[in-house]
Amino acid sequence: MSQTTPRDALVVGGGVAGLTAATFLARADLDTLVVNDGEPIVRRNAHLENVPGFPAGVNSRLFTDLLSEQADRNGAGRLTGRVTDLDVLGDDEDPLFRATVETDDGEETVEVSRVVAASWSDASYLEDTGVDLRAAGSKTYVGVDDLGRTDVPGIYAAGRLTEIYHQAVVAAGDAAETAITLVHDSGTAFYNDWVAPTGYFTDRGREVPPACEEIDADERAHRERESREVMREFFAEPHDEPQRTHPSLVDDELGRLDE
Ligand SMILES: Cc1cc2nc3c(=O)[nH]c(=O)nc-3n(C[C@H](O)[C@H](O)[C@H](O)COP(=O)(O)OP(=O)(O)OC[C@H]3O[C@@H](n4cnc5c(N)ncnc54)[C@H](O)[C@@H]3O)c2cc1C
Repeated sequence: MSQTTPRDALVVGGGVAGLTAATFLARADLDTLVVNDGEPIVRRNAHLENVPGFPAGVNSRLFTDLLSEQADRNGAGRLTGRVTDLDVLGDDEDPLFRATVETDDGEETVEVSRVVAASWSDASYLEDTGVDLRAAGSKTYVGVDDLGRTDVPGIYAAGRLTEIYHQAVVAAGDAAETAITLVHDSGTAFYNDWVAPTGYFTDRGREVPPACEEIDADERAHRERESREVMREFFAEPHDEPQRTHPSLVDDELGRLDE
């Protein structure tokens, strides 16, 4: 089955970078699809201790589940499949792309105005697009400017694929910045993605800026209650998926350890 109505944004790769980008894009009301094949590399980590907000660390499989949940709750779509090709259909003023996605059910195409490549460690689908690709040993990195734009208008890249430091929070921050750049480039009205208490802007005679919201005490209480419920549920039991290691060390494509 192929989808032909162009989406606003396609994120290739559902790791730390891709899922973070998707959350920011979807929150800016862009119709966003994440296509992911395989596992985010952070799932091989044995206990994630340097991601902000988890003072005693967090199970890395649980962490990526939380990122997926966040992308879902903010309205991003997710599809399991591998992007194998990207055709450039539009021009610099009006970017349009067609991505070919291999799924378990066959091949799909997705038409989309903008693409975020967050697919460490595969950039092969970008080969015919004109994006600057830099080979370094067995790896290929994507060249971007300071805000995540490649030299092909409409194609962005984020995360380890752009040769930033190999750390989860660096990938997340880089992806957030890239996503906001994409939002600006798309012409979507955007100030900051902020949630403020009632009156923060309006009691100072200002309109609530685009992509910001003011919420009252009832809504704050509702959101806090929901956040606590969700986190309680996620943390209620130890994560049930086995630890991963490098797949070359075990007879399992995901590197699952039999402990
Ligand atoms: C053993 C280990 C321990 C680590 N420990 C830490 C730590 O303690 N703290 C820390 O900060 N960092 C740690 N890291 C590093 C951190 O995990 C990475 O830097 C970060 O997660 C990179 O995120 P990313 O989104 O760029 O890449 P990834 O998380 O790898 O995401 C890329 C995703 O894209 C998918 N993909 C690839 N090609 C395609 C395609 N063509 N189509 C669709 N999907 C595709 C991949 O399968 C993957 O799911 C560790 C890494 C390893 C290996």
